[in-house]
Amino acid sequence: MNAIEVNNLKYRYHDGTEALRGVGFSIATGECVALLGPNGSGKSTVLLHLNGILPEKTGQKATVKILGQPVTAETLDTVRRQVGLVFQDPDDQLFCPTVQEDVAFGPQQLGLNDAQVAERVGKSLAQVGMADFGRRATHHLSHGEKRRVCLAGVLACDAAILVLDEPTSDLDPRGRREFKALLRQIPATKLIATHDLELAVELCSRAIVLDHGEVVADGPTTELLNDEPLMLAHGLERPHILWHNHPH
Ligand code: ADP
Repeated sequence: MNAIEVNNLKYRYHDGTEALRGVGFSIATGECVALLGPNGSGKSTVLLHLNGILPEKTGQKATVKILGQPVTAETLDTVRRQVGLVFQDPDDQLFCPTVQEDVAFGPQQLGLNDAQVAERVGKSLAQVGMADFGRRATHHLSHGEKRRVCLAGVLACDAAILVLDEPTSDLDPRGRREFKALLRQIPATKLIATHDLELAVELCSRAIVLDHGEVVADGPTTELLNDEPLMLAHGLERPHILWHNHPH
């Protein structure tokens, strides 16, 4: 079954900006896919549709399906259990005074009891290498630590599908390396919007390229990133990591 199905998705913001002009793709369960494209190409707008933060226009045919189920007002609760969204800016996601409370928030919303919540919090903080940070104040954490806590919060909800918006932006090289290693260990289906083309090569066997609210390419990551005319036409570049394989 497809984890994510998007068909002819169009979206216009209130100010008239046409962000998506008929986007379509599907992602099979277990895939890890990179969503690439220049700033403003529509990546975040696509992601916000996957757990219903941006609503379908009424009257439109079901354009987004999660695990076979259309995303509608009626299915929103289920969809939000299935799709964990990690925002681009950790400060948009973290809002509790302590790390522990923040990671506990999702499982509490799922109706788990205190012992179950505590178990999920402990497990997911350990998973992101933050086991000792539970009592720390979220607003005093470094950027990289905040990103890990955001990921822990989503992992604590045990979502089958992880959707990440620019997970490595603003991280230093070591932070980036460590975060990629973390992501690699998570077995969920993943869709990762990113400008980090090395991440795309290392983690995602497939990439989808958006530009001006449309899918302009969809295929094996290395194949797309080695296609220099395609990359240049859409504000991207062939990452150094591929250079020694295909010297020019
Ligand atoms: P990306 O994530 O690829 O940078 P976005 O999905 O953020 O692209 O943006 C797609 C288009 O929609 C851009 O033209 C952007 O300016 C516009 N846009 C994004 N958010 C809003 C908003 N809240 N209101 C109006 N326009 C927006």
